[in-house]
Amino acid sequence: MKVQEIIRKIEEIAPKDLACYPEDNNGLLIGSYSADVSKVLLALDLTSDVLDEAIKLNCQLIVTHHPFIFKGLKNIRDDMEQGRLIIKGIKNNINVYCAHTNLDVVDLGVTEALRKKLEFPKGTVLHPTEKEGLSKLVVYVPKENAHDLLLVISKAGAGHIGRYSHCSFMTEGEGTFKPLEGSNPYIGKVGSIEKVQEIKLETIVPNKILSSVIKMMIKAHPYEEVAYDIIPLNNTGKVFGLGSVIELEEPIKVKELAEKVKEKLHCQGVKIFSRDLDKKISKVAICGGSGGSLIQEAKFAGCQCLITGDIDYHKGQMAVDLGLTVIDAGHYYTEVPVLEHLRELVNDKLEDVEVYVTKVNTCPYIFL
Ligand SMILES: [Zn+2]
Repeated sequence: MKVQEIIRKIEEIAPKDLACYPEDNNGLLIGSYSADVSKVLLALDLTSDVLDEAIKLNCQLIVTHHPFIFKGLKNIRDDMEQGRLIIKGIKNNINVYCAHTNLDVVDLGVTEALRKKLEFPKGTVLHPTEKEGLSKLVVYVPKENAHDLLLVISKAGAGHIGRYSHCSFMTEGEGTFKPLEGSNPYIGKVGSIEKVQEIKLETIVPNKILSSVIKMMIKAHPYEEVAYDIIPLNNTGKVFGLGSVIELEEPIKVKELAEKVKEKLHCQGVKIFSRDLDKKISKVAICGGSGGSLIQEAKFAGCQCLITGDIDYHKGQMAVDLGLTVIDAGHYYTEVPVLEHLRELVNDKLEDVEVYVTKVNTCPYIFL
């Protein structure tokens, strides 16, 4: 597969335009969209060891979560680490793609991988960053073609509501038209008014995919000229955002919860910001990576605990003052579950491409 085709598949899971900071640097950072790829390596970070692993495995594409190039480069020199890796990567035909905050905010991204790893029930978005806009699509189609058309537009992404697909409403009625000079009608004759039993098929479509759904619909529709309406809706679809608020099935003491987090995430240690290790927790917020900015939101959402990484002294003090327990399991350990999770998601989508998760631990610190 070409780099571009693989990127398209990854962006079906984590659309690039969902990145929650304009200055974020998602996308293809090094290489060529047209390069051939048979092996992909997934990593949180591009380090020297990760690059060596990719070369050893003969991977042509490294997909990272953190952008290897973030700010503008003033030089690419082999006596400096970043330049050395860029040069080495290019010399070894390695392409580098990054899915950063877009992978943080999508429903199947970093938070979902962390939730699954911790074996928590499903939750709701803690800090929404985007809500999907929706339109109603109404199309008129001969009765015998209605079902097939529904299948086509559903496959293109229309008619999805929560965990249901192929959602539509069909009403039967009489359609009229008169084919004019130069037309090539599917039904009827040029110059005479035609009456046809038609179905008015109504369904819902996310605005982002509206044009591709319409394109597929027109292609599959039997008529030369397709009559359809697009009606903007005030309903919102999927909510994207950072972190998740989760009601636990059973209340659990802070100490036991922290031990569970440490065990499930395989980290050497966790920091607990709390004055009471016996406090019972029934509602938690989770956020992979740096979730310090979500302390107040987690408290206002009614959570007694936030599980995240990168909590510094002052953020920790603020949490304790608010009465919110924070379990800091580290940036790396709260995000690394996304690699295996992403491998499973993309594996089915990538034909003849092998996907590996790096064996390199790119956490920059160890506990003594
Ligand atoms: Zn991160």
